[in-house]
Amino acid sequence: MKQADVTLTRETIVAFLGSIFDRRGAEEYLGEPVNMGQHMLQGATMAEQSGQSEEIIVSALLHDIGHFTSEFGTFSMNDTEDRHHEDAGAQVLEQFLPSVVTDCVRYHVAAKRYLCATRPEYAARLSEASVHSLNLQGGPMTAEEVAVFEQNPNLEKIIAVRYLDDAGKRPDMETPDFWHFAPMIQRLVDAHAQDLSVKTQG
Ligand code: FE
Repeated sequence: MKQADVTLTRETIVAFLGSIFDRRGAEEYLGEPVNMGQHMLQGATMAEQSGQSEEIIVSALLHDIGHFTSEFGTFSMNDTEDRHHEDAGAQVLEQFLPSVVTDCVRYHVAAKRYLCATRPEYAARLSEASVHSLNLQGGPMTAEEVAVFEQNPNLEKIIAVRYLDDAGKRPDMETPDFWHFAPMIQRLVDAHAQDLSVKTQG
């Protein structure tokens, strides 16, 4: 089956995301001691253990899904490299999940640039690979960029997910698998569909 033939709906999106974790989670997370699946599961697990909201947990779980957007059949093979995976991920999620989640995904790279510009202690804790990609991503934000970024109503949540992203690089951490989080994602998907239908009816 060609992935491009898959039409995703609110009934199939969660299983589809799960199949990406199952089939491709073992792929390397460049320069880090964890694979892609472990990385995202670690962030989600830490969020759950520290009592954060389902929106944050799901955002952490899916923040790097854009590395796999070839799965969604919307991007050419040349685009599936790592470039702008944050936009690609947000784009594929936005029809199913609330904007809080898609903002956390879309801005997780910008958040690193933001934190490097505003919290000196943050840059010191970044992994080597993350410092390397920071430079490719434009380095710390300028003062103007910081001012614009701070206008985002979801700023705090975006930053919370960024910290989970940075934390989810532990070679020794045990986590549940994707399916532990599946009902949580489905709840957000269903709530979002409800919101949308209320808006169109209203
Ligand atoms: Fe990440």
